[in-house]
Amino acid sequence: MAPEWPLENSMSDRLNATPNDLRAFWMPFTANRQFKKEPRLFVGAKDMYYTTHDGRQVLDGTAGLWCVNAGHCRPKITEAIRQQAGELDYAPAFQLGHPKAFELANRLVDIAPEGLDHVLYTNSGSESVETALKIALAYHRVKGNGSRFRLIGRERGYHGVNFGGISVGGIVSNRKMFGTLLTGVDHMPHTHLPGKNNFTRGEPEHGGDIASELERIVTLHDASTIAAVIVEPVAGSTGVLIPPKGYLQKLREICTKHGILLIFDEVITGFGRLGAPFAAQYYDVKPDMITTAKGLTNGVIPMGAVFVTSEIHDAFMQGPEHMIEFFHGYTYSGNPIASAAALATLDTYKEEGLLTRAAELSDYWADALHSLKDCPNVIDIRNTGLIGAIELDPIAGEPTKRAFTAFLKAYEKGLLIRTTGDIIALSPPLIIEKHHIDELFGKLREILQNNI
Ligand code: PLP
Repeated sequence: MAPEWPLENSMSDRLNATPNDLRAFWMPFTANRQFKKEPRLFVGAKDMYYTTHDGRQVLDGTAGLWCVNAGHCRPKITEAIRQQAGELDYAPAFQLGHPKAFELANRLVDIAPEGLDHVLYTNSGSESVETALKIALAYHRVKGNGSRFRLIGRERGYHGVNFGGISVGGIVSNRKMFGTLLTGVDHMPHTHLPGKNNFTRGEPEHGGDIASELERIVTLHDASTIAAVIVEPVAGSTGVLIPPKGYLQKLREICTKHGILLIFDEVITGFGRLGAPFAAQYYDVKPDMITTAKGLTNGVIPMGAVFVTSEIHDAFMQGPEHMIEFFHGYTYSGNPIASAAALATLDTYKEEGLLTRAAELSDYWADALHSLKDCPNVIDIRNTGLIGAIELDPIAGEPTKRAFTAFLKAYEKGLLIRTTGDIIALSPPLIIEKHHIDELFGKLREILQNNI
């Protein structure tokens, strides 16, 4: 007989999880076993705070995973999802459609940099990256330049976890277990210059000329073999690397000169993180494609989008009308519920001025962040928009331990931070108020000054 639902004494009815409750879920990227010994479960969230299974409030210093830009459980988004789920739950987007996916695409290109006039939908940042890389290769093919097969990424780059993304990505641990990856990929050096740019606010002075390494790669392989360059304008998951002054502009110049497409992976910088809708606008550098996800639906429903120029889009529209132009798409591309969530998210951003709010708060944020400079073991602090990073001196022989200890202590104190290696990364919801900033850095100071 099928069990009745809800199961009596299910984990959601109890305060504490037992080891048996936690047995089956192989968690993403997580220190599974550590977590299962000391579970940290959220059971609710509102605006800037999570509620834990034992009833505590935790200030969200990371917008979940860089995604809940409008804060948690926002009424407009919740209601849009509820309504859409009862009205049209699913509609294929292959030779069929529904109005909201089209309305959303128009709304998205309205806030995108000029000329990025078309949108393809995906379900995640990783899928957006795969989609953009495939478009780049196919674009050159349809233009008669099929010899352009190479993709150029960057050391320490993070572009999700699928094969294209880890191939152009540059985080060794994410790559080394998975064989040969894509062939024909090369990497530019990263822009982090320890000792030269420490404790910089905003864009570092030194390192803009590292972009000319792309010229070296072009000379090595010849431009006629290179399809695209992909970079995160601000690299987040590798520990927050802010582009040095002039760096992105120089990459753009080199790509244009050699007919190479420039892709900005804006999965974390998109939707207001820096104080403009996209980093492309913030840095005034226009790429040929932008990959997004996360903040598109406020993290509430999986959805991603790839923005492309008309030139790229139109290159695919030259054959007979009944023919498929681009052999790519997902069952859930433009899903009605995701589209409704994204439209309500855009409404919320607009009504509350959230796409530019980071610009208003960034000085206050930077002052509070950099005030931790005097704490023991802090070797660097960097920031831009509503992003911050605090780099800690690794304990000899025990890398990552210091930051992970900070993470555990912060959670105990009611603060969510994120760590990569020995770097603490911060990216709160854009609805954050000054008193939350004070609370966040007050808690961090209590932790860091105790010489963890
Ligand atoms: N690209 C960048 C720049 C990211 O930061 C991330 C995730 O953090 C991704 C891609 C992958 O996104 P997802 O986890 O939604 O696949």
